[in-house]
Amino acid sequence: MSNASDPRTPAPTSAELFERALKVIPSGVNSPVRAFGSVGGNPPFIVSASGALLRDADGREYVDMVGSWGPMILGHANPSVVEAVREAAGKGLSFGAPQPGEVLLAEELTSRVRPLEQIRLVNSGTEATMSALRLARAATGRDVVVKFAGCYHGHVDALLAEAGSGVATFALPGSAGVTAATAKDTVVLPYGDREALTELFSQRGGEIAAIITEAAPANMGVVPPPVQDGTGFNRFLADTAHAAGALLISDEVLSGFRAGAEGQYGIDGEGWEPDLMTFGKVIGGGLPVGAFGGRAELMRLLAPAGPVYQAGTLSGNPLATAAGLATLAGLDDAAYETISRASLAVQEAVASALADAGVPHVVQSTGTLFSVFFRDQPVHTYEDAKDQNTEAFTRFFHSLLEQGVHLPPSAFEAWFLSTAHTDQVLDRLFEALPAAAKAAA
Ligand code: PLP
Repeated sequence: MSNASDPRTPAPTSAELFERALKVIPSGVNSPVRAFGSVGGNPPFIVSASGALLRDADGREYVDMVGSWGPMILGHANPSVVEAVREAAGKGLSFGAPQPGEVLLAEELTSRVRPLEQIRLVNSGTEATMSALRLARAATGRDVVVKFAGCYHGHVDALLAEAGSGVATFALPGSAGVTAATAKDTVVLPYGDREALTELFSQRGGEIAAIITEAAPANMGVVPPPVQDGTGFNRFLADTAHAAGALLISDEVLSGFRAGAEGQYGIDGEGWEPDLMTFGKVIGGGLPVGAFGGRAELMRLLAPAGPVYQAGTLSGNPLATAAGLATLAGLDDAAYETISRASLAVQEAVASALADAGVPHVVQSTGTLFSVFFRDQPVHTYEDAKDQNTEAFTRFFHSLLEQGVHLPPSAFEAWFLSTAHTDQVLDRLFEALPAAAKAAA
């Protein structure tokens, strides 16, 4: 029998919790990159968080640069988000019937992002991309999907080939358990390679249902979509897909409401539109939410009116919509200005500390989204991203952790800031940077 609730029993430490977790949870974690597998050591177990700070089971405090991998854009335990969830919880946790929050969140999303006429809420980014893909295949009557190496779209079978995020962190080619039949309908191209895409479409254009891309790749580190002859890569993808009767799925699960107020689309979306877009993270404010949407004419193909089945017991859950709505309500111009300022200050401070210590590095960004590569040349592709000094990153990471700064435990991830990353909080990072850069050298 567990005695965890006995107040005389000291609370378990992170090390004790991890030891127990390893017995009952594969690798002790419910999502791979949390395991510190590529940087080594045991992850701290977080018992509470507030603003930009995390507290672990050992009583240590960290400046959080992970933000739950994106959702916590207003900081942890933001009072208005917590209050909205508390109020919603008091009225019932899930109804399995329509509830007003779903309409409000759908209205909010469609009014903030131009290409969205209709959206459907799901429970994760993975579900969003999986459903968008099914819809694209049904709408076109074609099977093949094109993705780019280093882009991560969740753990959808068809999209795991050469994915970034944990797949990159652990140097996996894809995933065991994905059938050859599934993989055969996925074509993976180098990110940014217009010639390869044109060539593929000239040969197999009639088979291609969709191109899916991260609107701004951030799961191999941040790679801004390249502009060539005045045309941005996303627009080129839309034009190429449309010329062949295929669709463009723009995955804004990570970049949406993060790169800027209208995600990456707000940065490079003038005069063109993706057919479908996917969202997650920020739109759930820390609760499990995803969404996919686009033109009404496509979205109407979904069941029950249309033939494309897609469903969810907890989709549009009232707590999740309350958290999402409260988060979006907090994301006004001033919020983006705060995050943008913090983002620039961190990028400059990191670059200058690494330069002073003689550590090769490149900082890349789009809008407020940024990451740091431990190499001296810009990163354009997944091959570039993999060619970095991950050992230097590991030393940098552990020095910062030791000094109370919690970075994403992988050289392939973006760093996430929030409106709670005030100058005072960031000073703690800035003070820790010289020693971390020296450790990396
Ligand atoms: N798409 C992108 C661009 C992501 O970054 C992620 C997650 O990191 C996903 C999809 C999958 O989202 P989720 O982890 O909520 O399933």
